[in-house]
Amino acid sequence: MAQSAPSQHTLAPTIDSRAVLAWYDRHARDLPWRVAPADRARGARPDPYRVWLSEIMLQQTTIAAVRKYFAAFTTLWPTVRDLAAAPLDDVLVQWAGLGYYARARNLHACARAVVERFDGVFPTSAAQLRDLPGIGDYTSAAIAAICHDEQVAVVDGNVDRVLARFRALEKAVREEKPLIRAAVQAAVPARAGDFAQAMMDLGATICAPRRANCLLCPLEPDCLGARSGHPLAYPVPPAKAEKPRRHGHAFIIRHPEGKVFVRQRGPKGLLAKMTEIPGSPWQEDEAEPAFPFAADWRAVGAVTHTFTHFHLALSVWMARGDHPLDEGWWADETRLDNEALPSLFRKVLAAAGIS
Ligand code: SF4
Repeated sequence: MAQSAPSQHTLAPTIDSRAVLAWYDRHARDLPWRVAPADRARGARPDPYRVWLSEIMLQQTTIAAVRKYFAAFTTLWPTVRDLAAAPLDDVLVQWAGLGYYARARNLHACARAVVERFDGVFPTSAAQLRDLPGIGDYTSAAIAAICHDEQVAVVDGNVDRVLARFRALEKAVREEKPLIRAAVQAAVPARAGDFAQAMMDLGATICAPRRANCLLCPLEPDCLGARSGHPLAYPVPPAKAEKPRRHGHAFIIRHPEGKVFVRQRGPKGLLAKMTEIPGSPWQEDEAEPAFPFAADWRAVGAVTHTFTHFHLALSVWMARGDHPLDEGWWADETRLDNEALPSLFRKVLAAAGIS
């Protein structure tokens, strides 16, 4: 009787975790929150506070960008208790520039929850970690695996890409998430923490977004992407949805004594409670500027900024004077680093030559 063709799943290669770990033992990146594999083999364990902090900071940001923030946070607040005791405003000031400010608020709320609910000790299982503010599936799995060798799949964007190439997946990653997770889960060895970090390192250094060094890769013997001769054809790009564009005006009021007027944004929504340069609402249609008071307003530039869900184009206006608005304060131009000013408003100030 003729045999039926094997399904794609039976043809799909499996991850050789021993080869991955052997590669990691030689090539693990040196990171300030990481315990090197040799030290780990000798019994050293990572500090969950540092692992958690790094994972929150690394969400949608590069390691190069995170290093200085990580150093500043761990110097100012060496333990989760220190961070929990810090005023939220101080945390937001230190976070300024990393973007995604809801994450900083969740970071602070999470530190408090760990102190209040767990006496300052992070829970050890992914399931318990997931109950904490700002910790989702990925971060809970990463902390549990890295700190406690829980055998859970840790799948970040790097690992998605490695698997898309390894299996030569024909659909976009977002459609293949369950398959990718299952493939990684099936391969997780007892050294779950090292394996998780090895897969992240592979994606960051060998199977990188714009190059694949297949000859150096421990997955190469089984990799369908390498075999295809075109590993960079994977992951298959998703169909693009155009982001909407919004428009607005920013009004810089510049005091003769070298200050600018700033205020706090509202308690909800985008960039909530952060410091801002006053301005108009952001809307789909372009509108004439409604200046907050009569003055010699001059156009000094334009700024574009991309948020997760839309592009923003701001026209930047400036007037000189000592006329404050109802709510807000004068910020010394030489001390703007002390303000929780998001990147957008730093760009606005830079457009006017203030930075
Ligand atoms: S062999 Fe090449 S394409 Fe396959 S996982 Fe390794 S670097 Fe990526």
